[in-house]
Amino acid sequence: DMKKSGRNGFRFFKGEMNAEALRWLALETRLRRAIERGELALHYQPQISRIDGSVVGMEALLRWRSEEIGVVSPGDFIPLAEDTGLIHPIGEWVIRQACFQNKAWQNAGLPPVKVAVNVSATQFKAGSVSGMVAKALLDSGLAPRYLEVELTESVMLGDSAAAEAQMAELRAMGISLSLDDFGTGYSSLGYLSRFPLDKLKIDQTFVRNITTEQRSAAIAQATIALAQGLSLSVVAEGVETTGQRDFLGLIGCDVMQGYLYSRPVPAHEMAQLLAKGRVAL
Ligand code: C2E
Ligand code: MG
Ligand code: MG
Ligand code: MG
Repeated sequence: DMKKSGRNGFRFFKGEMNAEALRWLALETRLRRAIERGELALHYQPQISRIDGSVVGMEALLRWRSEEIGVVSPGDFIPLAEDTGLIHPIGEWVIRQACFQNKAWQNAGLPPVKVAVNVSATQFKAGSVSGMVAKALLDSGLAPRYLEVELTESVMLGDSAAAEAQMAELRAMGISLSLDDFGTGYSSLGYLSRFPLDKLKIDQTFVRNITTEQRSAAIAQATIALAQGLSLSVVAEGVETTGQRDFLGLIGCDVMQGYLYSRPVPAHEMAQLLAKGRVAL
């Protein structure tokens, strides 16, 4: 008999397991302990105004350094966490850590900036997001306007009533909602009027080819027009070159996130960026 496991559809056959599935299991065992062992950390990547280099926001990105296996990238362990349910405790840790850190920076006198956290569709499906966020804000003392939730199109797919209700609750609390990786999902554009969003993030796959590929440029341009028409703000992800920056500026995108300005950095480095308030252009 056969059991489907993992999003890559690994299959276990009687008495045999492929190497990939074994790796997945070993990873799960370690990830299960990662929180209690203090192996998780948030790094922060600033969002920058193209005009003057000022830090206008930041995104919290999860990092896992396993004692036994070293650094594992979120692209590898987030899907595993989603499939095993570990995303729930991990996601809660992320939300709380981001709120407490941002409040600590504000308490230290640094200029207040919004922090964005990534929340999986799995978390929205479980109905746990708005309650978790409310508690994290209460416990940390962070004002809701300094928190943003990033979600992907998959949140709004299928039976999305629970997601819609939680998004409305988050909005009612004063938290902003940002649509990550815009244009890479499978949803229809209809959700843009149905769901209460504040911001679109142009995915890095379009930004990457923006100066070399007419199609990517057209998609980026249409995204910006759409955002303007719907009164949403727009951020470009994965900006690596001055050519990309300049092109994005020409088509009306002023906020950027990417290696051109800063990689995601540990909290102490983010504190220095906040203190300066800007990056060199
Ligand atoms: P994302 O939310 O779209 O985050 C952007 C990713 O692009 C990050 O990868 C970031 O390090 C990377 N990046 C930023 N600027 C550049 C650039 O100029 N060039 C290139 N090539 N890459 C750039 P990272 O940190 O590896 O995270 C990958 C994905 O993992 C995230 O994509 C997000 O979907 C997920 N993720 C990360 N942290 C969390 C988390 O706390 N919770 C959940 N649910 N997902 C998370
Ligand atoms: Mg994101
Ligand atoms: Mg993204
Ligand atoms: Mg992504």
